[in-house]
Amino acid sequence: MSNLLESYAEVAGTDIVDQLRQLAAPLRGMKVVHVNSTRVGGGVAEILHKLVPLMCELGLNTRWEVITGERDFYQCTKAFHNGLQGHRTVIPEHLLRAYQETNARTAERLRPVLEEADMVFIHDPQPAPLLGLCPNRKGTWVWRCHIDASHPDRHVWRYLRRFLTDYDASVFSLASFAQALPHPEYLIPPSIDPLSDKNLELSREEIAAVQQQFGLDPQRPMILQVSRFDRFKDPLGVIEAFRLARKFVPGLQLVLAGGTASDDPEGEAVHLEAQNAANHDRDIHLLLLAPDAHRIINALQRCADVVLQKSLREGFGLTVTEAMWKGKPVIGGDTGGIRLQVINYHTGFLVNTPEGAALRIRYLLQRPERGQEMGEKARQFVRENFLLTRQLREYLTMLLALRSGITDRIELS
Ligand code: UDP
Repeated sequence: MSNLLESYAEVAGTDIVDQLRQLAAPLRGMKVVHVNSTRVGGGVAEILHKLVPLMCELGLNTRWEVITGERDFYQCTKAFHNGLQGHRTVIPEHLLRAYQETNARTAERLRPVLEEADMVFIHDPQPAPLLGLCPNRKGTWVWRCHIDASHPDRHVWRYLRRFLTDYDASVFSLASFAQALPHPEYLIPPSIDPLSDKNLELSREEIAAVQQQFGLDPQRPMILQVSRFDRFKDPLGVIEAFRLARKFVPGLQLVLAGGTASDDPEGEAVHLEAQNAANHDRDIHLLLLAPDAHRIINALQRCADVVLQKSLREGFGLTVTEAMWKGKPVIGGDTGGIRLQVINYHTGFLVNTPEGAALRIRYLLQRPERGQEMGEKARQFVRENFLLTRQLREYLTMLLALRSGITDRIELS
């Protein structure tokens, strides 16, 4: 077995790697192309950095191409993103023109590769028009939407839909994110990479150093929420829950870790609200972390006794997956993708109020053996459902189904 697959077998189990090899066998030599809009930054690029070499190791001839443009192109695609997520959006004509021109230029450059490919994955709206610009395509084209398109701005959706209808299939992350399109639609939830800095095993020394760096007492219980300073993540609710729970759990510490408020004015305002609510409490640690502080977040998740994600609204909630993978019981808001991950009373608790969260914090900290049992189940649940290898298995299964026209079963030789 090759090195990369072997490393995944060590953390994700040999079964899944065997399944990947079985599924890939009939697809060996197939030309696959992924197209997205950036090689760095953002979840899609992060996944492709691992997915593409894994597909190559499995014998699929896989390449990764990127569409790049000028300022107007990115302004337009940012507006699409916001529009798909439900913001009222009016996109000026000149931005739409830049979008189409950038796609036309990219098609000039990539047409030979794309028309020759057996399978093309177009990620998100940025490169969506490429299909219409490759009239001699011979392969199967899939539109992979990573965005919550459940309630899009109707003008934006109507504009984009025209580029999508001719695809052979589309993939959404969750059923609730999907839009109706006139072709088969697949649901493939997101995943975490167990070998990334955010999730790999850390030494005790590294974890202890992070505790020391942020003035956390390793002898006292600690609860954690990692999230952007966003009202939907309910940082004030977390502080309230902490204060209620502390009455019953002496010495309790809270860490609220989020990104640096950069170009997001609301982020700054929410951070300020959290600071006011914390009111110089020495046991509430509000951490503003750099965007690449992956190992720090990893260490914080590992040294927490309980992890919260008390969101009021949530897409999928990768922070939940990350914490569960580290064997932590998670207390999560009863919403969105958190419900797929936190199985109430088994892998954690679902809550709707600060009082509910406080009750569960108290419960888990007073019965550490129960927290540990839930954490073990949580890790197993993530191993089975939300690792990168599972996502790849689903992509391969979909490729087989699409290539062979099978809709109800896949035969392996
Ligand atoms: N994250 C981070 N730094 C921060 C806050 C969050 O690296 O300050 C990471 C977090 O570990 C997770 C992702 O950003 O991997 C957030 O994904 P999630 O689905 O939880 O929430 P979103 O921010 O997409 O609403």
